[in-house]
Amino acid sequence: MSSARNPRLTARLQGFGTTIFAEMTALAQRHQAVNLGQGFPDFEGPPQIRDAAIEAIKAGHNQYARSFGIPPLTAAIAEHQRHHHGLEYDAETEVTVCNGATEVIASTLQALLDVGDEVVMFEPVYDSYLATVAMAGAVPKVVTLRAPAFDYDRAQLEAAITPKTRVLLLNTPHNPTGKVFSQPELEHIAALCRDHDLIAVTDEVYEHLVFEGEHVPLARLPGMRERTVVISSAGKTFSFTGWKVGWACAPPNLTRAIRTAHQFVTFCNSTPFQHAVAKALALGDEYFDTLREDYRGRRDRLCAGLRDVGFTVMQPAGTYFVCVDIRPLGFSDDMELCRRLPEAVGVTAIPNSAFYVNKEAGRHLVRFAFCKSDPVLDEGIARLRNNIGRLTT
Ligand code: PMP
Ligand code: GLN
Repeated sequence: MSSARNPRLTARLQGFGTTIFAEMTALAQRHQAVNLGQGFPDFEGPPQIRDAAIEAIKAGHNQYARSFGIPPLTAAIAEHQRHHHGLEYDAETEVTVCNGATEVIASTLQALLDVGDEVVMFEPVYDSYLATVAMAGAVPKVVTLRAPAFDYDRAQLEAAITPKTRVLLLNTPHNPTGKVFSQPELEHIAALCRDHDLIAVTDEVYEHLVFEGEHVPLARLPGMRERTVVISSAGKTFSFTGWKVGWACAPPNLTRAIRTAHQFVTFCNSTPFQHAVAKALALGDEYFDTLREDYRGRRDRLCAGLRDVGFTVMQPAGTYFVCVDIRPLGFSDDMELCRRLPEAVGVTAIPNSAFYVNKEAGRHLVRFAFCKSDPVLDEGIARLRNNIGRLTT
């Protein structure tokens, strides 16, 4: 993100100028580049769900919703958690609907953190986390996932926890690495949360995009349900990222706290889209299986193409992103490469250093999104193959 100083911006938010996604999408548009940067599908979600949103508008569901979500949606979220993950939540007292996962994270952190409290998280870190922690006046403590395997050092995680730590913020499946945290890793994290009385906030927006292994919600581990806020959203699972319907599932005491903050951040999410997402969550298993298998095909297509171009590809176990090491092609600075790619090569990607506090750890990594139709992926790969030489010579 741009770090130019803006004298009108609070000290808390200095350095958070413009997100890397907005910057790279603007470059893609300016140069008509194939946008493999910002993660949004270039295809539609299920037509019957799109129609359900239109029908909800026509049926007059156009006024404010109940602050924590319309009853059919909170019920559908609880049922989805039960059916897909074996987690039981009460729709009336343990579910909160917000404006996308982004607002769930913001309202949750506003609700749970006092000024000076510490939040432990892994880098590369999804871009909104650091800004949101800063807005709450809290302090991030970052533990690095080490490329190429994106594992972490247990002692480093343990050392990051201090008496001031209140929250451990975990994203699995993980954007941008595609890592799916393993059972032993989750057990280690859960033990630390229990031992240090931490609240776990788990961002699981890619819960249905897992190609290797299994997505295990941290809340399912012993002693964790009562101290975990599980976050997800409709954007990735139903390919409607612009609808911005997200939710938190958490025990009643945590839910009451989140709802208090959420009331004053947005009050409620858009009513007709809530009706549509309630129907989407109730789609049969076949929908979720097909989604995953279609994405597996796109992942394999893009990974093969990027390998063919000459990058070292870190095949993702989940999400719709793949990270590559740019050094085999002679590049050493991800930001410089990504700022030149759209014009010189006709492709847009995201520089991973944007997701790091310790920028050097991500300098050799670039993220490509595969939430795109096959012809678009093929065009992006062809442009890279044909034009990347313009940057290497
Ligand atoms: N968390 C992660 C890890 C994400 O990748 C994203 C966006 N793709 C979000 C949160 C935000 O989700 P939403 O669009 O529902 O706000
Ligand atoms: N989550 C999307 C990504 O990682 C971007 C969302 C946004 O632009 N805020 O690409």
